[in-house]
Amino acid sequence: MKSIGKANKKLRKLKRSFLHDESYRVNRYFNNAFIDHLSIIIIFAVIMQQELFPSEQFSFFSLGSGSSGNCYYLGNSRYGILIDAGIGPRITKKRLAEYGIDFSSIYAVLITHDHYDHIKSVGYLGEKLQIPVYATREVHRGIADSPLTKTRMNGSKRYIEKGVPFQIEDVKITAFDVPHDSDNVGYFFEFEEHKLTLVTDAGTITEEVAHYICKANHLIIESNYDEDMLKNGRYPYPLKQRITSGSGHLSNRQTADFLAENYSSKLRNIWLCHLSSNNNRPDLAYQTVEKQLTRKGIKVGTEVSLQVLKRNTLSTKTNF
Ligand SMILES: [Zn+2]
Ligand SMILES: [Zn+2]
Repeated sequence: MKSIGKANKKLRKLKRSFLHDESYRVNRYFNNAFIDHLSIIIIFAVIMQQELFPSEQFSFFSLGSGSSGNCYYLGNSRYGILIDAGIGPRITKKRLAEYGIDFSSIYAVLITHDHYDHIKSVGYLGEKLQIPVYATREVHRGIADSPLTKTRMNGSKRYIEKGVPFQIEDVKITAFDVPHDSDNVGYFFEFEEHKLTLVTDAGTITEEVAHYICKANHLIIESNYDEDMLKNGRYPYPLKQRITSGSGHLSNRQTADFLAENYSSKLRNIWLCHLSSNNNRPDLAYQTVEKQLTRKGIKVGTEVSLQVLKRNTLSTKTNF
């Protein structure tokens, strides 16, 4: 009897261990299946998210750059932002159309300062087309007081403050002080993983300006004049002094030296802007910057792209 009892006990033990093993196997099977299915669901969700909300490709180009008119475009397939409005409305429209862009997709115009080569069509864009125009209070006052701007702005004015970020759709924008002989700002744009800085009409590169230049992956920077051409040129002495003073413009050499000294490998694109027609040449500006960068071992064209923005021509479009 004892042996039968022992045998039963053993049998129960075996049954328990078998059941335990089975349930373990079953659990393991379901756990593995669950993980497999979860991975598939996650991969599918990522694909769907990319299909439904693809990361927007942005592009940048210049519609014209220099004392005869400045206007730059930054945007994606849904909307665009113009920086400065120094080109007449008809040409602005025509040059945008060359890249298939209509005024209706321009969500904002940002103004750097109130000099006429930056604000020529601001009244038209703001009041006639009802595109919001962003500028500091002082710049808006300058635009309103300018005898050259025909259309007075009312409803389209948007006030910004230096150092206080604002948002246009997916783009975070910060205006910062740029020394010039008028209240002037540079703009720092953050979108997706990109950082783009625009600095024009800069008398000098202050610590603050340097801070925003050094953060950029994409940089639009003034390279206004060749120092020898200005020195030996026909400009009257007071004008030469105004240009070279800390509140005038940046020379090719100043820009080249700064870029070579402060180069960061995250910088992918450099566009030289606002070249003088009398005291500079595109090839000279390019060579001056290229030479300084090369001297520091930076491979122009492979490590970083360098382009000169022409005065009266639409530039190529760069996508990123
Ligand atoms: Zn200017
Ligand atoms: Zn200016």
